[in-house]
Amino acid sequence: MKTLREIFPKGKRVFVRVDFNVPFDSEGNISDSTRIEAALPTIRHLQGEGAKVILASHLGRPKGECNPQFSLRPVAAELARKLGQPVIFLEDCIGPEVESAVRGIYDGSVVLLENLRFHPGEEKNDSEFSRALDRLTEIYVNDAFGAAHRAHASTAGLPALVEEKAGGFLLQKELAYLGGKTENPERPFLVILGGAKVSDKIGVIDALLEKADSILIGGAMAYTFSLAQGCQVGSSLCEPDKVDLAKSILASAREMGIKFLLPVDHLISEKLDFKASTTGETQIIEGDFPEGWSGTDIGPKTIALYLQEIGPARTILWNGPMGIFEIEPCRKGTFAVAEAIARNTEATSIIGGGDSVKAINMGGFSEGINFISTGGGASLEFLEGKSLPGVTALEIMDQSV
Ligand code: AMP
Repeated sequence: MKTLREIFPKGKRVFVRVDFNVPFDSEGNISDSTRIEAALPTIRHLQGEGAKVILASHLGRPKGECNPQFSLRPVAAELARKLGQPVIFLEDCIGPEVESAVRGIYDGSVVLLENLRFHPGEEKNDSEFSRALDRLTEIYVNDAFGAAHRAHASTAGLPALVEEKAGGFLLQKELAYLGGKTENPERPFLVILGGAKVSDKIGVIDALLEKADSILIGGAMAYTFSLAQGCQVGSSLCEPDKVDLAKSILASAREMGIKFLLPVDHLISEKLDFKASTTGETQIIEGDFPEGWSGTDIGPKTIALYLQEIGPARTILWNGPMGIFEIEPCRKGTFAVAEAIARNTEATSIIGGGDSVKAINMGGFSEGINFISTGGGASLEFLEGKSLPGVTALEIMDQSV
């Protein structure tokens, strides 16, 4: 894959696939602009080189139809503020008007196209839609790591049609951290996995069993392992149909001599109300949960045990919260783990996307983290060892072979 420094974009129309799929609050304001900020180094570099920068992204799931609720217009305004210069917003991403607009812009200008997913051809990786995007493009750059696991027109179909293409700075950085640093980790290499379901993380656990020295489990995922060990978990979120899988993971970890730690105590609650953010009565418990109660966080003994592992680690990869961190009384475990990772300044710390990133930001611990991935699903698939269509499409054949 070429880097941005190996292409010569001066005066060229450079189509940059970015990931501007940002969250909005109830008043329609962007509530987290991390993804916009993450694309700035690539945009500024191309501008500095005198490229005509054409940015394209998806936003939400408009299902192939034009829907103003998913317009990228507010993103153009936010990007202009961050760049300190105007961003030309076009109301579509293909068609004769868009083509003539992008041909008419000055070198160094920045254009943002309207949501790619307003056209059904984007998600279908339709060849006609890819050709329509190609008519805007002289050089192709992908900096949308968060969308690299999808074979869509803008991530796979278009780059297949373009000769000159490269990975943007963000994409390269994601691959370097999630790939390089976990492939040859400084040891001890500690992996912390949590979140809702074992089934979402099976592939990652399997792949990381081969590389990690220790794996810590938290979140609702832990209750499926508790079932595998013959414990009662009350009304906790768990996957009884994955109990055999959990047993086989525990057996593999034992065989391979990997330290595989499960919670030794739990915060459980009687009445969970997500909407009201309340838990009803809570208690700390070891062993079987009473009927009707659900596990909502790891307990204090588990926190102490996990912090002992985080301290001496030299590479730490974390994906998935330790409990229902969205509800205040259930976030102690997640925040304690986040803080301990941030305080371990001798380790390379990598946070793998999604809710762990939200928790890190909520707790104000992001300063102490070396790398925060912008891709949830993409980072999991990459860690599993799957090839990402958006990355494969950038690979160039070795002409000398
Ligand atoms: P994931 O997307 O798989 O990383 O899961 C993140 C979600 O898992 C968050 O919304 C958490 O609230 C949820 N979660 C974590 N622990 C629990 C738990 N003990 N019970 C129910 N949901 C949980």
